[in-house]
Amino acid sequence: MPVESVFPQLEALLPHVQKPIQYVGGELNSTVKPWDECDVRWSLMYPDAYEVGLPNQGVMILYEVLNEREGVLAERTYSVWPDLEALMREHGVPQFTVDAHRPVKAFDVFGLSFSTELGYTNMLTALDLAGIPLEARDRTEDDPIVLAGGHAAFNPEPIADFLDAAVIGDGEQAVLEITDVIRAWKAEGRPGGRDELLFRLARTGGVYVPKFYDVEYLADGRIARVVPNRSGVPWRVSKHTVMDLDEWPYPKQPLVPLAETVHERMSVEIFRGCTRGCRFCQAGMITRPVRERSITGIGEMVDKGLKATGFEEVGLLSLSSADHSEIADVAKGLADRYTEDKIGLSLPSTRVDAFNIDLANELTRNGRRSGLTFAPEGGSERIRKVINKMVSEEDLIRTVATAYGNGWRQVKLYFMCGLPTETDEDVLQIADMAKNVIQKGREVTGQNDIRATVSIGGFVPKPHTPFQWAPQLGVEETDARLEKLRDAIRGDRKYGRNIGFRYHDGKPGIIEGLLSRGDRRVGAVIRAVFEDGGRFDGWREHFSYDRWIRMCEKALPEQGVDLAWYTTRERTYEEVLPWDHLDSGLDKDWLWEDWQDALDETEVEDCRWTPCFDCGVCPQMQTSIQIGPTGKKLLPLTVVK
Ligand code: SF4
Repeated sequence: MPVESVFPQLEALLPHVQKPIQYVGGELNSTVKPWDECDVRWSLMYPDAYEVGLPNQGVMILYEVLNEREGVLAERTYSVWPDLEALMREHGVPQFTVDAHRPVKAFDVFGLSFSTELGYTNMLTALDLAGIPLEARDRTEDDPIVLAGGHAAFNPEPIADFLDAAVIGDGEQAVLEITDVIRAWKAEGRPGGRDELLFRLARTGGVYVPKFYDVEYLADGRIARVVPNRSGVPWRVSKHTVMDLDEWPYPKQPLVPLAETVHERMSVEIFRGCTRGCRFCQAGMITRPVRERSITGIGEMVDKGLKATGFEEVGLLSLSSADHSEIADVAKGLADRYTEDKIGLSLPSTRVDAFNIDLANELTRNGRRSGLTFAPEGGSERIRKVINKMVSEEDLIRTVATAYGNGWRQVKLYFMCGLPTETDEDVLQIADMAKNVIQKGREVTGQNDIRATVSIGGFVPKPHTPFQWAPQLGVEETDARLEKLRDAIRGDRKYGRNIGFRYHDGKPGIIEGLLSRGDRRVGAVIRAVFEDGGRFDGWREHFSYDRWIRMCEKALPEQGVDLAWYTTRERTYEEVLPWDHLDSGLDKDWLWEDWQDALDETEVEDCRWTPCFDCGVCPQMQTSIQIGPTGKKLLPLTVVK
């Protein structure tokens, strides 16, 4: 059955909304495949506005991987802003894809990629606009399978009632495996309906289907156990790990946005995973082990990607890009290759050492020098031991001196507030560090107009990290601590005017904390917030703390729990955590030991350079660390003219 485009109805609404171009589709490198020639159809959503969603690498990769497969189509959909949402409701226009403006409800799968839990209400908006029942149990044979992925899906329990399924880990192989299961089931005439399809997916061991698991609670509100309610469904669901990134050089044809977006550049992921062991970092923990893309693989992706897009900047992405074993050759090789084309190169890098400055100098050889960002994360040496961020103030000052000596004038320092065991004193040392940075800058340059910016965010304990048991700092305490720091910086006559101070209050962080470590009972809060008008919670101007508090007070007490129970309460070793049945590969006992080491202020090394410390990932996932050097060179490719 052909599916009609909703564009004619949508087009009439577009003159009445802001930035209508974001809903039009047809970007360079986008794909529209004939509906009737495909038997498995995915709609993919990044549940935020187009300007944030389009550059998302995860969605871009899956879009291309699926569309490359014969007989499979994938289209993208993003969150519509409230102005268009109101008009769509008034005129009966459903949630649509931007590629062919097909209704999301017509697809086989509605896949959502969550980088942050604050996108949950946007998922409900999209489901509602699509005409798909919010709760999985109300869906019929005509509804798509609603599937979540992305980092936030490592604990999908707060949205379990709204999901048919979730996948944890790398998506590129997983979506193809899921496609095969759907295709076979459809070819057989859909035996057993969607229930059988979900069962087949669950049986693979790599797809979590919440309805096949019952959660039992203790009288005090904690979880007693999570148990499969259908024979053949595994007790624990495994994460997916792609081992050879060179075999997956996606995106090959990156999308070029039509409207302004947060990143206007081509990105190449140079490695996945991180073993530095920063204890607060969920991304680092859940993406282990480290898998590097080879230097030749990177070179080819940059070459092809630039030709396919016309971008003038390349971002070399990863969790800590300066750690790639051949990054110096990559940076030099690319800077040499694109000297004449004035292609800018950038890498998000948080390592604090002189090598990083050399790298930054190399990368900016063809373009402009803006600021350098370092992330010591904690203000005192003590708290940096707690979080396992092994940077001494001496290192930082030495690095900064090199940066100023090389002509950099702006240094940004990133920190967190509310880390476990933190005191006011730990945070106030941030002010001292910033002053020392300015002083060093003045010394090295002989100039007074040196600037440093301190940026500080609230710490949120995350599942599958050693801090998953930690109490989160409350809103009032976070705000009070940040005010003391602000006063210490602004009140300094000698340096205060040269230090920029950016901070966020603790309110969004505590809601993110609720959603990160919540269980299925939190779903009632998310639904209530959505029904009360909650949208775009990741956006300061749309986020309403008062609404979340009201809905927590409405939905949680009848379950015998409250917001503080989920956030500021410390968990014990014995407690069953809501995500224990989702296997990130990390051994729970190792995480607990690392938590105890944190409390003892004991650091662990990076297992890339030291012997394995048995976090569990490699044996559990049958994977291994994959790093160079390969001995290969970025060029022999011919220099691009
Ligand atoms: S199992 Fe060992 S080598 Fe593998 S990531 Fe963990 S600590 Fe590193």
